[in-house]
Amino acid sequence: MLSEPTGSVTGAGALLSILRDGQARTRAELVQLTGLARSTVSQRLDALLTHQWIVPATDAISSGGRPATAFAFNQGARVVAAADLGATHARVAVTDLASNVLVERTADLPIDRGPEMTLGWLVDTLKELLVETGGQLCGVGVGLPGPVEHISGRPVNPPIMPGWDGFPVPEWLGSRLGAPVLVDNDVNIMALGEHWAARPEVEHLVFVKIGTGIGCGIISERRLHRGAQGAAGDIGHIRVTSAAEVICRCGNAGCLEAVAGGASIASQLRNAGIHAENSRDVVGLVRAGNTQAVQFIRQAGREIGDVLASIVNFFNPSVIVIGGDIAEAGEHVLAGVREVIYSRSLPLATQHLSIRATELGDRAGVIGAAVMVIEAVLAPEAVDLVVNS
Ligand SMILES: [Zn+2]
Repeated sequence: MLSEPTGSVTGAGALLSILRDGQARTRAELVQLTGLARSTVSQRLDALLTHQWIVPATDAISSGGRPATAFAFNQGARVVAAADLGATHARVAVTDLASNVLVERTADLPIDRGPEMTLGWLVDTLKELLVETGGQLCGVGVGLPGPVEHISGRPVNPPIMPGWDGFPVPEWLGSRLGAPVLVDNDVNIMALGEHWAARPEVEHLVFVKIGTGIGCGIISERRLHRGAQGAAGDIGHIRVTSAAEVICRCGNAGCLEAVAGGASIASQLRNAGIHAENSRDVVGLVRAGNTQAVQFIRQAGREIGDVLASIVNFFNPSVIVIGGDIAEAGEHVLAGVREVIYSRSLPLATQHLSIRATELGDRAGVIGAAVMVIEAVLAPEAVDLVVNS
């Protein structure tokens, strides 16, 4: 006789994955879906109930005779802490296991004050928020505005984060918050958040962040593509001809970011005698109808579109999402981006390509940071480990 398969393919974690779509299911339905024996399904449901990952659903389904109990994913089983730390401001939230924000806070927080000041503030703020929500913390997700080595969660030579190079962010935060910590760069978590919350049906998506700098997060076959070291998507430092003479903050000449990032547009405006300190000022001017600002931002859109046209030919995404501070200038950026992509990319690649603004806006980062944690905690293997321990 064949023995029952065990492990992650058909373990308790796999059952939980099925229930995560939000639909309540009866034992009989789960037996049918998994091909497992009824007794095995019952055993695994009991384990999931013990850990509160699932709850008996209130709307019991009748199957002819007496009503059968259905089970549903318990998205309130744990809470997740999420932080999106930018160059100058921070957004922190506590969410449930479906990435719904339960409570959040924003603050002006310059990242260049160094890791201990910044992360110290984060620990204090998260502790306050966790008192407000209650619930068991299952993990902490953090986005940083610089390159992060994925395996260690440590920043690597981040250009705008003095003092952070190699800093052990996961260990430092983990020992103070008592939960596992995952760290990634801000653009990757924005891509995750936008994909999960706004366009989960899309297989191939590129999220472009246009803020002070420029970067992109890549969703390939519905998963975040980080590359070998976690550096994938760093399009801000791709060389463009119009920037040939311009020195970038990375030290090289000719980077896209040096002609099309928010900092660059602000400096172009200052050269034209218009006051603008940063990307927020640029957006303010565009919204106020300043024609020079509109022109510069449209041109920045074209420069970015030029690089994205190559990305489209190379990667063939079906959706490009534009986010970040500068994206708040709305249609003017999108118009420049679209103009160049549609004229420069191959027809087959652009036939069904949609280029649009972020739906989550400045919440994409915290939602993505939460998603990163949720995916790790609820991965079938991780659930099996907890349930079998
Ligand atoms: Zn550069």
